[in-house]
Amino acid sequence: MSTYKALFFDVDDTLLDFCAAENNALQLLCKDQQLAFTQETETSYKTINQQLWRAFEEGKLSRDEVINTRFSLFFKEWDQEVDGILMERTYRSYLEQGHQLIDGAMELLTQLQHKYEIYIVTNGVSRTQDIRLRSSGLHPLVKQIFVSEDTGFQKPMKEFFDYVFDRIPNLVPSEGLIIGDSLNADIRGGQKAGLDTCWYNPNRVVNQTEVKPTYEIQSLQQLYPILEK
Ligand SMILES: [Mg+2]
Repeated sequence: MSTYKALFFDVDDTLLDFCAAENNALQLLCKDQQLAFTQETETSYKTINQQLWRAFEEGKLSRDEVINTRFSLFFKEWDQEVDGILMERTYRSYLEQGHQLIDGAMELLTQLQHKYEIYIVTNGVSRTQDIRLRSSGLHPLVKQIFVSEDTGFQKPMKEFFDYVFDRIPNLVPSEGLIIGDSLNADIRGGQKAGLDTCWYNPNRVVNQTEVKPTYEIQSLQQLYPILEK
């Protein structure tokens, strides 16, 4: 048996299918604005959004700057002037409805909750993440949820993990494993905090970074043998 006492799970695209939730919300928003939802519009939004969140992870933008400007920037690409803040509010109400599980997530947490302390570590908006975790049915299976908005810091910042460990007495980082899909936020962040790391990489993306995870998996089911080692 592995010596881990605690497992730290990322949420988006690790336990919950954020891509599906995001696509659905974006589609509804485009419909509201009478903008055709195509591969092009989808890609345009994702590019803008990823650039902004990346700047957030690097500490260059605040969370509010990200979420309140992404839709004004996106619709501007399609010659529409919109109120970014109002649009974000509508988008969020659509996003909160999205709680599609990643294959195997429910079974995984159901089985592991008896053997490990399970924590959630997620960058995002507290209310949205809370609603999605509750409606997905995962909420009762986790011991505590840490959302960047509440901590004042975000993964991969060391301060985010300091906040987490300050609130988990009797646990040292070497007793924990973080599981997430982001090499930067989850794996690099986890390493900085002294955790072992497991990169969930279902699309078999080639790792061209200097960040080397302890483990790499393509499906959540592949976590079982790692924990049984
Ligand atoms: Mg993620």
